[in-house]
Amino acid sequence: MATQSLYRRYRPRRFGEVKGQEHVVRSLRNAVINSREGQAYLFSGPRGTGKTTSARILAKVLNCANPQDGEPCCECESCLAVERGTSYDVHELDAASNNGVDAMRDLIEKASLGTPGRHKVYILDEVHMLSKAAETALLKTLEEPPPHVVFVLATTDPQKVSETIRSRTQHLQFHLLPMDVMESHIRWLAADAGIELADDALQSVLLQGGGSARDTVSALELVASGGGDALDITPLDEFLEAFIESDPGRALTVVADAMQQGRDARSLTDDIVRHLRDCFLSLMAPELVQLPVQRAAEVAALAHRLGAAAAVRAMERLGEMLVEMRHAPDPRLLLEVALVQLTHPAASNDFSSLLDRMSRLEQQVASGKSAATARPAPVDPATGRAALGGRARGSGGATLSSAQAGHPSADAPGSGDTLTAETGARADVSADGLAAAAERAVEVWGSQVMTALKSLPRAIYAAAKVLGARNGVVAVAAPNEPHRVKCQQHQADVEAALLKVVGAPVKLLLSVDGAVAHDDSDSGGGNVVALKLASAPPPDEDVDLDGLVDAPPEAVVTPVERLAQAFPGSQIIDE
Ligand SMILES: [Zn+2]
Repeated sequence: MATQSLYRRYRPRRFGEVKGQEHVVRSLRNAVINSREGQAYLFSGPRGTGKTTSARILAKVLNCANPQDGEPCCECESCLAVERGTSYDVHELDAASNNGVDAMRDLIEKASLGTPGRHKVYILDEVHMLSKAAETALLKTLEEPPPHVVFVLATTDPQKVSETIRSRTQHLQFHLLPMDVMESHIRWLAADAGIELADDALQSVLLQGGGSARDTVSALELVASGGGDALDITPLDEFLEAFIESDPGRALTVVADAMQQGRDARSLTDDIVRHLRDCFLSLMAPELVQLPVQRAAEVAALAHRLGAAAAVRAMERLGEMLVEMRHAPDPRLLLEVALVQLTHPAASNDFSSLLDRMSRLEQQVASGKSAATARPAPVDPATGRAALGGRARGSGGATLSSAQAGHPSADAPGSGDTLTAETGARADVSADGLAAAAERAVEVWGSQVMTALKSLPRAIYAAAKVLGARNGVVAVAAPNEPHRVKCQQHQADVEAALLKVVGAPVKLLLSVDGAVAHDDSDSGGGNVVALKLASAPPPDEDVDLDGLVDAPPEAVVTPVERLAQAFPGSQIIDE
């Protein structure tokens, strides 16, 4: 491959080569063919969608010696000069780096020195970044533009361009490319450039590019220079899993890995917000999601599990964080704090987090899913009501079966040993064996289990209380919630020690002191462990589980209801 970058090598030279912006280039070509080109255009759209490229093509065709059908010949002296960037007829100014009034005055002076019979094209990139004074100067010129001068103002953020400027321009909108268009373009380009591209590498390129032609080609170049390996993309899904599973460690691990790879906290936060937005859209308006088909399906599945309310809450929180990050000496710390907050729904008792927990619970109950994949709220067996304020954590030992959710007769065969069913490793240990092992673990807890631990987990678990063995799990109570979290962080260490000491995969069931591990085996509900909070949750967090069972299945939730769920605190006034 030549040293010239792929992006420059494959940059469109004619309107017909601009991918995915047919509506824009058709309008420009027709204007040129009919000699009715405007004097001022506003090109808006996401980065890398062809705004400046199209502006240069326009400049080329307007000065081309042999234009054909609204296209430049790309062979005459003028065309070649524009392509080389040496034409006297094309002037570019990047307002992002040069936003002052002096640069603007300079440009306007040049504009008034017209070359007879030729077009001078002024391309102002990121025009929304112009200073107020520079904008005023530009506005005067736009009011009475010298003949043969064409202004092309480009922006990624048209909302920030003043209304006066917008009203004096023809506004043309560029869009991100649909993934199928991008995919076939990249396949063609890779083949043309002689780049071998495996499917996973192609998918990583499309993902990285996010619908921007420039970013996608840059990603392809990275892959090509890396010998065709798929890009090392930060696994953004992990953040969503962390939110869903309330697992801060999972989120912080990804942050640490990303930093190690040289990512910065701001762009990473940007990416997480973008990903959350994709999730939100896939719930609300799937047609707007710009992802490869297979990826879109994955995101939709994640979004379904996360729920719109949680997605919105995370977007809001991380959005605030992005603003704060601009002035923060340590943006990474801010990101980590936000992630810890977002992965701890119990820490926040505001309405939106409650709504979010409710809708998740509702989904689980409505879909009849057992607790094998979803973490349930603990149930008070006396009332059959879920105590949403408390959480069953850790070993997944606390399960919510339909038998407890208000249907005492539903004692389906096989529903007995949920604990064994949900952990593959435990399946080959008999329930009796496991129960005996758990009993033994409690007996030798102080003498053997604790001594098998390293000093940190040992110190943490020393402050916790062993409540006893229940159905093959060891119930442990921490003095408070923060301590329970610490215990949870070292749960795997203790479970590994248990395996070593008693020779069976005995799990822990963590709770906060005062919570009672309740053995339900007498009531016929099977080996289901439920936690009862000693301290009553706030009254408004009580949810009648019967009501949840009767809730309509997910599929018939109306768009209005989905919207209401998505915006915490909103109320349906009139459907
Ligand atoms: Zn030409």
